[in-house]
Amino acid sequence: MLELVQFEFKSLKRAGNTTCSLQINFIVTQAAPRAPALPRRECPIPHTARPLAQHPGAGGLIDWIIEVANQNQEILDLFQSTGAYLKGHFRLTSGLHSPEYLQCALVLSHPVHAASLGRRLAEALSAIAPGTPNLVVSPAMGGLIIGHEAARALGVRHIFTERDADRKMTLRRGFSVQPGEMAVVIEDVITTGGSTAEVVALLESQGARVLAAGSIIDRSGGRAQVGVPRTALATLEVQTWDPPACPLCAQGLEAVKPGSRQV
Ligand SMILES: [Zn+2]
Repeated sequence: MLELVQFEFKSLKRAGNTTCSLQINFIVTQAAPRAPALPRRECPIPHTARPLAQHPGAGGLIDWIIEVANQNQEILDLFQSTGAYLKGHFRLTSGLHSPEYLQCALVLSHPVHAASLGRRLAEALSAIAPGTPNLVVSPAMGGLIIGHEAARALGVRHIFTERDADRKMTLRRGFSVQPGEMAVVIEDVITTGGSTAEVVALLESQGARVLAAGSIIDRSGGRAQVGVPRTALATLEVQTWDPPACPLCAQGLEAVKPGSRQV
């Protein structure tokens, strides 16, 4: 059971001229003990050539906020029920330590869940993309399965990027994009948005237009910026510590690295 306890208008500004970037912070509480999530989403309502003063009233927004909060919880429940919500002592790619980790690969190991998450992400992306994509692009490895499933739902092709020997994001295996193609970029988890932003830059350098980006999980609390409209199925404010300040290190527990990326 979710209870909406607070929401606030974080900022009100224009992003280009196609979407309103009104952002809303809200805190949800629930009976189950876990840290409150603070999703921050872009307003889903198109604002082309529409003065911000005519923004829809708070009534509609509250319905929308509750819908987003419920979806957030549904996704986290799915991670919990598939054993993908790990508790322990983790060393993240950023070098920070954390007591929890969401292992998307475990949820995506169930094709029925992968397909369902792909459909939901495809819908969420269609709602914010200023146009119809004809291509999904994901960074390997994390983005492969969810990108493929979202592409299936959108009825478009899916290709992926890899890092070369210099850690530079590249298209290999004969993959290419044509100038003017319209892409969406999909990852499993966004933390800083770095990988997605690199894929966006790569595609734009080859003449494609990137309409939007999405992930199953946003671990940035909604703060990650990737240069295009972005969405996530669940947004989390993940507890992290610098190693010297980590209470789990202080207890002498060894940190493990759950991700796959080499650092
Ligand atoms: Zn630690």
